[in-house]
Amino acid sequence: MSLAIKNAMTIDVEDYFHVAAFEKNIRREDWANMPLRVEQSTDTLLALLDEMNVKATFFTLGWVADRAPDLVKRIAANGHEVASHGYMHGKATEQTREEFRQDVDRSKKLLEDLTGKAIIGYRAPSFSVNDTNKWVFDELKDLGFLYSSSTYPVKHDLYGVPHWPRFKYAMDNGLIEIPMTTLHIGSRNVPMSGGGYFRLYPYVVSRMLYRKFHRAENQPGIFYMHPWEIDPDQPRQKGASLKSNFRHYLNLKRVRGRLKRLMTDFEWGRMDEVFEIV
Ligand SMILES: [Zn+2]
Repeated sequence: MSLAIKNAMTIDVEDYFHVAAFEKNIRREDWANMPLRVEQSTDTLLALLDEMNVKATFFTLGWVADRAPDLVKRIAANGHEVASHGYMHGKATEQTREEFRQDVDRSKKLLEDLTGKAIIGYRAPSFSVNDTNKWVFDELKDLGFLYSSSTYPVKHDLYGVPHWPRFKYAMDNGLIEIPMTTLHIGSRNVPMSGGGYFRLYPYVVSRMLYRKFHRAENQPGIFYMHPWEIDPDQPRQKGASLKSNFRHYLNLKRVRGRLKRLMTDFEWGRMDEVFEIV
């Protein structure tokens, strides 16, 4: 039943020490001294995607691309879409317009040099676009992006604008925004895109959400996760809050098995293909 609709499989390529939940505990100056695990964990994902015959979009951090340039080349060579997740993982809500532009431009040029292809997609770290910084979309358009997948129309403690659109739409300037997937229940939007929810809910709940979403909306959904979510052996951070620790380490060992089921039960593809960007 759900096989007819193809969803977008997306990976935000960053390491375990880049996550916003740990930003108070790990300083940016220390990133260079942290054991790098993103190359290995992304390769695990690449092998799994290959095994399941799925193509995906990799929103890649420029910082990672600089440390693991061959990884970016492997992603592209395997037929996946390489897109930008900015360079330093700063939230757009905490940057000036000029800082945002420079950071994103730097990542785009680097990824284009490595892949030899135009980078047309962007995802903001922590979905950090809201009513206060809509200029993000003008900067993205101006930098040559065709689409963004940076908004989550939910109520959440760290991100989201519940009243923003739930489905792909064009801005006045022509840039396409493709929001994260939500199920509309009663008067609220229930988030269902992210790896965090995927780790929290039993697999049958995730499957039910995607099936209900397809039935209700007849639209493609988006799934997103990070390479560290398939890396149960990553170093544990000290000093983060209980809530952050719970969110970060929950059910890491179950992800591989659940992903295989998700890729078996539904059809998946790249953002640019699923949402007919080019
Ligand atoms: Zn991120």
